[in-house]
Amino acid sequence: MSTLEIRDLQVTVKTDGEDKPILKGVDLTVNSGETHALMGPNGSGKSTLAYSIAGHPKYTVTGGSVTLDGADVLAMTVDERARAGLFLAMQYPVEVPGVSVSNFLRTAATAVRGEAPKLRHWIKEVKEAMSNLDIDPAFAERSVNEGFSGGEKKRHEILQMELLKPKMAVLDETDSGLDIDALKIVSEGINRARATGDLGMLLITHYTRILRYVKPDFVHVFVAGKIAEHGGPELAEQLEAEGYERFIKASA
Ligand code: ADP
Ligand code: MG
Ligand code: MG
Repeated sequence: MSTLEIRDLQVTVKTDGEDKPILKGVDLTVNSGETHALMGPNGSGKSTLAYSIAGHPKYTVTGGSVTLDGADVLAMTVDERARAGLFLAMQYPVEVPGVSVSNFLRTAATAVRGEAPKLRHWIKEVKEAMSNLDIDPAFAERSVNEGFSGGEKKRHEILQMELLKPKMAVLDETDSGLDIDALKIVSEGINRARATGDLGMLLITHYTRILRYVKPDFVHVFVAGKIAEHGGPELAEQLEAEGYERFIKASA
């Protein structure tokens, strides 16, 4: 069993030479096998939370901690985070010109597994995962994220997750920019990864629609840099009906 523990996390971001506080004490625990939805209005700091866990240099942790099975995630390099079993999919993934999807995936798998996957087996694995996600085989030769449509970026993320088999995944707005067919395919991919039973997942989203396909065990409402309310799936239904207004008012 694995546990991702976020304790009283406080983060600032540099804007115009000033350190602006964004995360104001985030507490959250995600265990293996649990899917948590983190939902909140635009600008509330959801992506800042994801970037902070990922160790993005623009975000400064000024207090609190993030641990995976007791190990200090914030002290790890990006590679160490991946080897520890963390998978982080960002809202705006970076382009990697000149590196093909196929090479990128193999390098990532080698880093995570500690040895290069056997070529013949690997090719089969990738083919199968791509076909599950309805991705054209030619996609493997394109440069990572370069000129990808919104839907292609998101499928590529789920493809990575399926191949890397993390212990803990943080997915930031994996549902944004997807049409209904792509949303279903991406959701099925997420559900396949969940079906292994031991994946812990933090699904960050602005809209409730992905939660029709991926049923969360827990729902957290995120407003103004912290969690305003914890609940079960019924909380997502309430948000769908009422929006974030009540929580925004209460936090003001
Ligand atoms: P969300 O993902 O919930 O929409 P973000 O984490 O993207 O929210 O943004 C939270 C706040 O932090 C916003 O006011 C945003 O402008 C600011 N912010 C986040 N990242 C940066 C950045 N790299 N540079 C400047 N401001 C940022
Ligand atoms: Mg946003
Ligand atoms: Mg965001």
